[in-house]
Amino acid sequence: MSWIDKALAQEPRWAAENRAKTHCPKGHPYDAANTYAVYGRRRCKACARAYQAEYRATRRHEAVERTRLWRSNNPEKARAQNRRRAEKIREQRRMAKEGRS
Ligand SMILES: [Zn+2]
Repeated sequence: MSWIDKALAQEPRWAAENRAKTHCPKGHPYDAANTYAVYGRRRCKACARAYQAEYRATRRHEAVERTRLWRSNNPEKARAQNRRRAEKIREQRRMAKEGRS
């Protein structure tokens, strides 16, 4: 067995280190009720909820405000965007109607 085969056969040091962690960086437990997995990594539900609440409280309003500002600075582009969206909705409704009959 070459050194590279040996290196690939054993798991990296950080895998065992991460598995040994019982709490998230903010101190919430990694238990069944508070944990979900993304791409094989554990994620803390309490932290996810906190982030979502923070997003809804602040960043979402900032995003809406940015859009409002952009629309007032680019009225022509905003109108073109509205027309494309309205056309898309009409198209979807037409397709749905044809699908039903
Ligand atoms: Zn957490």
